[in-house]
Amino acid sequence: LDVQFDVSAIVTRESEPYHRWLRASEVRMQRCRACGYLRPPASDDCPECLSQDAVWEILSGRAKVETYIWYFQDILDRRFTQEWAYRQVPYNVALVKMLEGPRVITNIDNCQFSELRVGAMLRPLFVPISPEFAILRFELS
Ligand SMILES: [Zn+2]
Repeated sequence: LDVQFDVSAIVTRESEPYHRWLRASEVRMQRCRACGYLRPPASDDCPECLSQDAVWEILSGRAKVETYIWYFQDILDRRFTQEWAYRQVPYNVALVKMLEGPRVITNIDNCQFSELRVGAMLRPLFVPISPEFAILRFELS
């Protein structure tokens, strides 16, 4: 672990299984057993039908870039932001669509400004934040 993450700021009671699966290099999201809706973020209730009956379904981890932005200046105020939240500029924030349908906001790592394109295919990166948990980022595939 090269960055000291504040795990409690990322992992919630609801998202704990999600981050545990990521640490095991699996992308899993909850699928509602009542209506079939596949949801991030993790929650107790289905946002579509309010059912609490869900299973942690394994996804391919493959995704496609829908849109993105690059940051060339550090816009975070260091008086109010914890150390773990900082990223080296330039970095991107992207909206990506999983092959199975859900969209997630994430970062595309190991990627130059000139390489990132809308429609680019991605593979998952499982970034450890503790011995138990990881977060999901992506790289070009
Ligand atoms: Zn549902």
